[in-house]
Amino acid sequence: MRLSDDRYEADRRKYTLALSMIEHGARIGTVTQWTGLSKYRIQTLSQSYESPTRTRRKRGESPSQPAYFLRSLALARESMALTYIALQMHAIPETRMPDARASLPGLVRGERLISAFEIYRALLPDGLISFEHAVLLIIELAERRTLLLAHCESCRDVMVIDRLGPQHTMCPFCRPHPRATVEPGRLWRQQQFHQGVEEHNENGTQHGHDEHDAGREMTSRHE
Ligand SMILES: [Zn+2]
Repeated sequence: MRLSDDRYEADRRKYTLALSMIEHGARIGTVTQWTGLSKYRIQTLSQSYESPTRTRRKRGESPSQPAYFLRSLALARESMALTYIALQMHAIPETRMPDARASLPGLVRGERLISAFEIYRALLPDGLISFEHAVLLIIELAERRTLLLAHCESCRDVMVIDRLGPQHTMCPFCRPHPRATVEPGRLWRQQQFHQGVEEHNENGTQHGHDEHDAGREMTSRHE
């Protein structure tokens, strides 16, 4: 009796997670991977529960470019916000997970990911980062191969750095003009972070780069 109750509960959670992911525009393949439900079940679920608020699902492959998160100042700021929330929700593992693409997806982590994404969207209803990109961000930060976590040398908040991109030492809220008047960053300040945040920003001495880079970021296009 107990076993069937547990199975029922696990199934209920999988369907709830699947519906939430579908609501946020996740691709069928993504929902399959995170819930363990079959493609057929997810398609049936998607058709059975139409929702007027559902984000339209994009066709094609899921996003795969980690450079996306830092390609404009606005995106870098939102990536920092979402990262902060995901760390708080333990959607990002404490220790590095080199094979996160394969081993991170699962029911419990998926529930945390959805919670983090929904908080991000509650704070920023017109947020730039799609759910599929949020999945990519969490996987990239679990692997810590291209995207890494570091502390801003000005405000000490946790920030995202791209190993292959400009090596900023200050977070997108502190550059190019330290301490702008509007500081959404305050929302996620003054918290202790778990392991995996770099204490020192290695190679990060290119202050002169910021000004040039800000200009480049202004002209870059949002996906
Ligand atoms: Zn900062």
